[in-house]
Amino acid sequence: MNVENGNGHNGTVNGMNSTGVIITNSATPLPEGVHLPLYMDNHATTPLDPRVLDAMMPYLTGKFGNAASRNHQFGWEAEKAVETAREQIARLIGASAKEIIFTSGATESNNLAIKGIAEMYRERGNHIITQVTEHKAVLDTCKKLEKQGYRVTYLPVMADGLIDLDDLKRAIVTEGPEKTILVSIMYANNEIGVVQPIREIGRICHEKGVLFHTDAVQAVGKIPVDVQADNIDVLSISAHKLYGPKGVGALYVRRRNPRVQITEQINGGGHERGMRSGTLNVPGIVGMGAACEICRNEMAAEALREQELRDYLRAKLENALDYTQVNGNMEHHLPGNLNMSFVYVEGESLLMGINDIAVSSGSACTSATLEPSYVLKALGLGDEIAHSSIRFGLGRFNTRAEVDYVADKIIDVVRKLRELSPLYEMVLEGIDLTKIEWAAH
Ligand SMILES: *Cc1c(COP(=O)(O)O)cnc(C)c1O
Repeated sequence: MNVENGNGHNGTVNGMNSTGVIITNSATPLPEGVHLPLYMDNHATTPLDPRVLDAMMPYLTGKFGNAASRNHQFGWEAEKAVETAREQIARLIGASAKEIIFTSGATESNNLAIKGIAEMYRERGNHIITQVTEHKAVLDTCKKLEKQGYRVTYLPVMADGLIDLDDLKRAIVTEGPEKTILVSIMYANNEIGVVQPIREIGRICHEKGVLFHTDAVQAVGKIPVDVQADNIDVLSISAHKLYGPKGVGALYVRRRNPRVQITEQINGGGHERGMRSGTLNVPGIVGMGAACEICRNEMAAEALREQELRDYLRAKLENALDYTQVNGNMEHHLPGNLNMSFVYVEGESLLMGINDIAVSSGSACTSATLEPSYVLKALGLGDEIAHSSIRFGLGRFNTRAEVDYVADKIIDVVRKLRELSPLYEMVLEGIDLTKIEWAAH
């Protein structure tokens, strides 16, 4: 098999992987500034910014103190660094430093927020509202609470991925034992990049006296987030999604209007005002603070740059290929996200064809089988189209040269795969696929 690369030269066959798929390596040099493998999956994780590493380094070496050591310099030094980070994180979201609780990441933050509020306000009611396209860290936590007797409403989303605010209003229960105690709706979705109407959701919750938690992992540091203006009571963040280190996160917990209380889920030592015990990850926290500070300074310009690259990528793909589809509302959208379906192409083959590019597909690996993404299915996409979808996650270190390389490669592979696709051939011949009677198997 000879696979042509983006430069119009034939690549040379020089290997076969364990699955028997022939891999071709181009003999021609890559475009200037492009290195393989190429990373464009910044919703899964982001690389550590070198400036963040510089800030962390002293706390991984000489300044190793425990921030809870109250009686010597090593402890004071660590504590001071933690407090600086707390302020940097708070400033990025319009909070005060005392409202920031450090955790091991957003999975823990989401667990602490939802379980902690459910437990603390159990007397007030047992009803929680969330929505179907949340991250598993929210959905699985809610499922666990259902087993413990809580009632959970999973709001649907419209075809563009946004929730309907009337659905939310109707779902809130204000009287009786099934009173709603918490609404948890994510700020921006990690697959389709759709940004929910958070400010309005927060307003509705506050009008009805319900606490509002948001998983803001994909939004903080990318678009403006302000817990006051947005009426947010509790908010989850993760450092490794904003160019900080893995294994550290935070939970914002509002201290007034209203003062939110949370039952701790980890006991021992009473760190973090009793809400989260455990020795603080000082270098990680310092890194998270530095990462937030950089985002605060550079976010506005960076968002414009990423959005322009994203629109360029989209236009290039749409101009070269027919039967593509963009998923999710593009007006209320993260700047670096593009989720696109390439109809009549098998997703797995597409990913294999671009195996030197790191992106995500619309398939999730659950146990041994490939399941179509539950987020794409919630928008009403069929299994086939969901499987043919690619999530591009542009980030701080992606360049225009990389976008060109990725677009050319996708165009090339999609064309080749469609040449082999009987379905695509029928569509070109004008056969209406919906009228075909498929043989039963
Ligand atoms: C990555 C992610 C999480 C989980 O964060 P971790 O810090 O990796 O546990 C939760 N929610 C969303 C939306 C995410 O993208």
